[in-house]
Amino acid sequence: MIHCTEDMALDIQTIRKDFPVLDQKVYNKPLVYLDNAATTQRPIQVEEVVSQYYHNGTGNIHRASHFLSDKSTMAFENCRDIIQNFLNAKHREEIIFTKGTTEAINLVAQGFGEVFVGEGDEVIVSEMEHHSNIVPWQLLCDRNNATLKVIPFDDNGVLMVDKLDELITEKTKIISVTYISNVLGTINPVREIIAKAHQHSIPVMIDAAQAVQHTPIDVQELDCDFLAFSGHKIYGPTGTGALYGKKEWLEKMKPYQGGGEMIERVSFKETSFNQLPYKFEAGTPNIIGFIGLAEAIKYVTAIGLEAIAAYEEELLHYATSELLKVDGIRIIGTSPNKSSVISFIHEKAHHYDLGMLLDKLGIAIRTGRHCADPIADHFDISGSARASVSFYNTKEDIDLFIAAMKRVVQMF
Ligand code: PMP
Repeated sequence: MIHCTEDMALDIQTIRKDFPVLDQKVYNKPLVYLDNAATTQRPIQVEEVVSQYYHNGTGNIHRASHFLSDKSTMAFENCRDIIQNFLNAKHREEIIFTKGTTEAINLVAQGFGEVFVGEGDEVIVSEMEHHSNIVPWQLLCDRNNATLKVIPFDDNGVLMVDKLDELITEKTKIISVTYISNVLGTINPVREIIAKAHQHSIPVMIDAAQAVQHTPIDVQELDCDFLAFSGHKIYGPTGTGALYGKKEWLEKMKPYQGGGEMIERVSFKETSFNQLPYKFEAGTPNIIGFIGLAEAIKYVTAIGLEAIAAYEEELLHYATSELLKVDGIRIIGTSPNKSSVISFIHEKAHHYDLGMLLDKLGIAIRTGRHCADPIADHFDISGSARASVSFYNTKEDIDLFIAAMKRVVQMF
């Protein structure tokens, strides 16, 4: 696999051969896929490994009394090693397989929350969270009579981290924030947040759903206590994802779900639980999905996240400056530190109309509130249109998007 040119820039044309799905027409127009923050496309390498496992058969994992079961278990557990390496986790049992970011956050809100968050305690999130990093904590606070507090952001979409000094009290039990906002594109200063929290011995959870595919992450260097991501946003199958958690926390937490695999011994009188990571992995997981996720992570790692980040930043700047040349556009989220996402509104055209008309011209973007109502509320808007780039997008994609935008806004 050679994905870099001699000067170490990404070789996008070679990369795009791995994504034949991008080379299709919709409504007789070339597809321009700019909805990568919602979900990414998968390279043929992922497709091939997944279809191989369907074709050749699988057995259920961790019940290796026969060949197929043994083979599936090895491939599945190999994914754990790959994620451990990818995130540089200290121990392989610190990687818990989940359906995605949402399940990983729910796991912590329940498993950590039921042990450590009691009546009168406080949980802190930020104003720019995806609903999946708000609602699980709200449900916890409702159950346990705790309070949810919020770090605000300013009108550029920059998190007001200084406010943490006022928000943190001796009642604060956990802080959970997104690394990169799926609406504003803001890259948050998570190191600073973690350092502040740790001064008070408060653990920090990082929602990395929009980060793992755009920036290298080393959980030991970050020193976060928990981190969640989704497979489908990093070129892997849907229904896969992972939670990283420091062993010392995971050991003290309650299991999230009960069922097969997460137990050591069950009787009607009492049940003892399996060791980490299995204590948090009840039931048969998406075995083939995780085998595909391993391949996706190998693929991204072979290209290199530094090179990906540099190229995507270039595309983001180009798209932003070109979009601002379209009459009537306002960009939502103007932090100087941004990644891969541009949300915007038009003075006359509703975002749904923009999305629908762009779609007919082959341009796939997302419209709406992006599962982050508080962000729309902050700007007092009904929603926005959002274009989000990946390393497989090209300058030509951006040019087609901008030309389509110019055509569409003329109708209003
Ligand atoms: N957090 C962020 C920042 C996201 O962008 C998303 C997905 N849009 C999620 C959490 C939830 O991810 P999933 O639906 O894959 O669980």
